Amino acid sequence: MSKLFRAVIMGPPGSGKGTISERIAQSFGLQHLSSGDFLRENIAANTEAGVLAKTYIEKRLLVPDHVMTRLLLPRLEEMTRHSWILDGFPRTLAQAEALSRACELDVVISLNIPLETLKERLRHRWIHPASGRVYNLCFNPPRVQGVDDISGEPLIQHEDDRPEALVARLRHYKDVAKPVIDLYKAKNILHTFSDTDTDRIWPHISSLLNTKIRTDQSSAQRASTN
Ligand code: AMP
Repeated sequence: MSKLFRAVIMGPPGSGKGTISERIAQSFGLQHLSSGDFLRENIAANTEAGVLAKTYIEKRLLVPDHVMTRLLLPRLEEMTRHSWILDGFPRTLAQAEALSRACELDVVISLNIPLETLKERLRHRWIHPASGRVYNLCFNPPRVQGVDDISGEPLIQHEDDRPEALVARLRHYKDVAKPVIDLYKAKNILHTFSDTDTDRIWPHISSLLNTKIRTDQSSAQRASTN
């Protein structure tokens, strides 16, 4: 890939962001950068930001914007020679504005998944509370049922993943994400995908990225031969 390519993926809990990001990374050679994974690495390494972030994550709250941008933006600066897909950041308008100042995005993918599907997926979700590792009994089960693969500790189901709590969480997600989505819509880089099934969404995302990446490559080639 001659021109660098920068993409963001957005979606509510259970929308399949992580799965789709992995497929994009594998199929198109982009680095998958996940804000959640990055926070978990910081928690495991007991960094100052990690200790602070943990208190919010445990309460299922968003980590404050200034903590997130201070963590994420230097990481993106290290990636100036790589194409990437950013998963989980930005989550708020302040984060999106900070990201816009740091780099130009080519594509924003927004996953718009029906509530019933999200409820069903989260019903099968188990987490390892100490690390934040997430399992799904349908498509990403632990090796031993009810047990974390790495630590061997028990997995739990989160109160917040219960259907009643999910509606409130989703409403919160939509309120916070709306100005971010509006910003990317106004920049003409937003692409929204709606379906109940990740495998049905994937071909559309794949063909979008094929077009975008190939178009960018040929225009970069044209520029270099002119
Ligand atoms: P995730 O793995 O993306 O679900 O993230 C796990 C948790 O990390 C979230 O529930 C938030 O508490 C926190 N988090 C991840 N990304 C962000 C972000 N961009 N802004 C604020 N908090 C975040």
